[in-house]
Amino acid sequence: MAFSKLTGQKQIKLRLAAEARRRGSGAYMLSGPEGMGKRMLAEEFAKALMCSDAGSDGACGVCSNCKYFDNYTTPDVTRVYEPAETKMVKVDFIKDNVVAESYLKPQFARTKTFIIDFDYLGVESQNALLKSLEEPRKDVVFILTSSNTDSVLDTVMSRVTEIKLDPYSDEELEQIVKENCPDLEDSKVKAAVYNSGRIPGKAIALAREDSGVSIRHEINSIMIAIPDSSYIDVLEDYCEVLAGFKDDAKIAASAILLFLDDVARLINYPDCHKINNEMDRDAIENFVAANKQITTLKLGRCSEAVNIFLRAIEVNSNFDSSASAMLLRIHEELKK
Ligand SMILES: [Zn+2]
Repeated sequence: MAFSKLTGQKQIKLRLAAEARRRGSGAYMLSGPEGMGKRMLAEEFAKALMCSDAGSDGACGVCSNCKYFDNYTTPDVTRVYEPAETKMVKVDFIKDNVVAESYLKPQFARTKTFIIDFDYLGVESQNALLKSLEEPRKDVVFILTSSNTDSVLDTVMSRVTEIKLDPYSDEELEQIVKENCPDLEDSKVKAAVYNSGRIPGKAIALAREDSGVSIRHEINSIMIAIPDSSYIDVLEDYCEVLAGFKDDAKIAASAILLFLDDVARLINYPDCHKINNEMDRDAIENFVAANKQITTLKLGRCSEAVNIFLRAIEVNSNFDSSASAMLLRIHEELKK
């Protein structure tokens, strides 16, 4: 990864790459609304600072420092992001892991970098950092981010170089959406961009929701076909369709659960006024009518198979074999 892999923010990327090559010390504050890509820029800037061969595009990506960075194994980069258990980062954490550390020289790279998300820093933690921000060692760089600089102390702002993220163009936003949802139709890409308030994170979220709907359509059609399909169809064709959803495995699995839930509802309450997949209601009603062999007990065993699949992907089991085990179990329960 280099700066050119990130879409948009041309001027800022040039500037950060130049700063990285200059290897000056200092403190930078990347600011802009949530979802603008501050963290990605901060990470890329930190990598360029680590890199032993950084150029105008930032980090080289191949030197050993870049590799350590990518593997999160360099002791010379400290990240302070959202804490796991508390809302805000504890001040002691800042004192021990940032303030104290910032007085020590880097171990491998020429620069020691601290990336700190100020959205999770209260007043006390910000105050604890003041002295370090004011006089950092010559080989220390602070990369701070904030989506609301109003909640950052003036005394902090006066000690940092603020870099405000630039707005993204429509073309850039469309490109970002396509990179994240490559199969989404053009009209839906444009709609996601249009409704995003020009925030890439928002556009991606909207596009993902939309691709969720198309995943559900596709899952519904597989499920509808399963009772009349052969073992081989399931093993070859349907497993392949599911493999296409590997990156959205959870959405695909929950789509199967929603389908099973709809079938159970329609078996028990044929007139129920709302099902999960209203868009495919006719097809699912026909499915229920044509498959009297399906009982709620069998549906329950199918849901169990889906939950086993979900647990398997959570622990990174082999996707293909977990998916085919699930589909074969569902086929066994639902077949005619
Ligand atoms: Zn490198």
